[in-house]
Amino acid sequence: MKYELKPLPYAYDALSPVISKEIVQLHYDKHHMAYVNGANAALELLEKGRKGDLVNVKAIMRDLSFNVNGHVMHELFWENMRAVKESNAPSDSLKKKIESSFGSYDAFKNEFSEAAKTVEGSGWAILYSDNNGNLLIGQLEKHNLLGLNTYNVLLAIDVWEHAYYLDYKNDRGAYVENWWQLVNWDVVEKRLAL
Ligand code: MN
Repeated sequence: MKYELKPLPYAYDALSPVISKEIVQLHYDKHHMAYVNGANAALELLEKGRKGDLVNVKAIMRDLSFNVNGHVMHELFWENMRAVKESNAPSDSLKKKIESSFGSYDAFKNEFSEAAKTVEGSGWAILYSDNNGNLLIGQLEKHNLLGLNTYNVLLAIDVWEHAYYLDYKNDRGAYVENWWQLVNWDVVEKRLAL
């Protein structure tokens, strides 16, 4: 078994001007690729261990968790964005679901933005549904810490510095606010139906 880097669902410059071509290129070609390679390297080490080599299983599993989650989170992230759309909003039915979970669409948006802006260090903000179909917002530190193992991620924003620094310097808040223009609500809705 091997992890693979799927093609981006759009051109490198598709997310501009919210996220520049340069960032998407580096982020996808270098950063995302590194998680795929890291995950495969960890799998190979486990394979060696099964054949009798002395390996540090605990360290490999820590590595595997970081890299596999890094890989999976980036796939979700790329797919839940699309080119800038004027008046970008969820469908009425998705909006109703959001309103029933968070009180209002604005309350949802504020909570998600706040989660994204306040992740300590590197990480993610996510909208997810739990096993009972409730919608909740959460944070991930790195790619894999603070996570709940019952969630189905519907929407994810990468707030590692590599995701915005070239365009926004240290202004994560401006990146998060602009990022809403890129959300692909059709994908969010599809994930919710799964
Ligand atoms: Mn990233």
